[in-house]
Order: sequence, then C-alpha cells, then structure tokens
Amino acid sequence: MPADPSADSLHDQLKFFRDLGVTDLFLEAPRGVPALVPGSMPDLPALQKFLAGCPRCKLSKGRTNIVFGQGNPQAELMFVGEAPGREEDEQALAFVGRAGQLLTKIIEAIGKKREDVYIANVTKCRPPENRNPEPDEVEACRPFLQEQIRLISPKVIVTLGTFAAQAVLETDEPIGRLRGRWRTARGVKVMPTFHPAFLLRSPDRKKDVWEDMKLVRDYLASSR
Ligand code: URA
Repeated sequence: MPADPSADSLHDQLKFFRDLGVTDLFLEAPRGVPALVPGSMPDLPALQKFLAGCPRCKLSKGRTNIVFGQGNPQAELMFVGEAPGREEDEQALAFVGRAGQLLTKIIEAIGKKREDVYIANVTKCRPPENRNPEPDEVEACRPFLQEQIRLISPKVIVTLGTFAAQAVLETDEPIGRLRGRWRTARGVKVMPTFHPAFLLRSPDRKKDVWEDMKLVRDYLASSR
C-alpha cells in the first residue's frame, strides 16, 4: 500500500496506517538485498545459491546454517515442516532429529523412501530456543518456499503442524480444523496433518496422521 504522500514524518506515516486499521507492518529486507522474483529461478540449485548468506530476517543472526531442504527435486510428494531445530541447523538438513526419525517412519508407512520425497520447512533458519517462527520471519521466507514448490511441482504437499499448514494455505484456521481434509494451494493438493514433534508428545494422535497418510497414498496411487 503506498504511504500517504502528504504525511511528512514517520510518525504521520504510521498514524496514517493505524487510522486505516493496519496492525502489522513488515519491514523491507536490508538495502541491497535482492528480492526474489517469483518464477525467476531455473532450478533448485539456483534458488539455493540465491538464498546463500540470506540476511532478510532476524533469524539469520542466530543460525549456523541455512537449511534449504532436501530430497527428490521431481518428487510427487513434498513435506513442509515449520523450521529447523538444533540438529538441523548443525547439519544443514531438514528433519534429521527425533521428529525427523518419526517422519522417516511416516514416509515408509506409505511405501516410500525419504529419497523419493522432498522435505522443506517454512523458515530456512532456526528460531532461537526453538521458539515459533514470527510473522515477519514467515513472510521473509515465504517467496523461497513458494519458489521451491513451483520448481518441484509435487502432486501433493503434506504440511506438518500448524505453522506449515497456515503458511502454505495462507490461512489462520487452526490445525484442528485443517487436519485430514484436502485443500489446494496454487493448484497443488495439500493435506495438513500433525507435526511429528507433536506426535512424540502425544503418541495417541499417530492414528490421525495414519488416516491422513492413507488418503495421500491412495490419491497418489489413483493419479498414476
Ligand atoms: N521440525 C521442523 O519443523 N523441521 C525440521 O526440519 C525439524 C524439526
């Protein structure tokens, strides 16, 4: 939204937005950092190179590595988690800790291997103390996730947990309402399910994830 041209101070500008009912303002990336033009990247390695050294949000300050995501670049099935944890940050790989081991079992339960699918996160850098990603961090990383999805062009995206479902579907609906129901994001079928870290705390909900994954397995089998 353009600022009010008649406003002559930052205070006036902010007042103008407040009076319009705006509650969140996202700061632009630091000067000189190029914005990603949607659709401009020829392949995943080019996108990963473009992201290298990213300073676009405050998570860049605390990370060891950018966790770009990994797997089959032509996967028919893509998983999107929330954000890297400590082990992921150290190894620069998505879902390699305890939650990742459970994700491997979930993938294998539908007859696939980790190498068959693509695994990425909403934010590519670890939030401090594993806190939830903040809205400005999700926004800063969103173009990179969207470009990954465009390049992989999976038949199905399985979102893991609240943040991934809300970020991919651009909604604020709670996971309890989203889980287990097909949605669509930018022409791709999306199945929101619970996050494996949640399942480690609440193993009784594994049966829900199994129901969701059976829907995914059956859809993929019927679309061949
Ligand atoms: N949790 C996530 O959401 N992503 C990871 O890569 C690891 C744990």
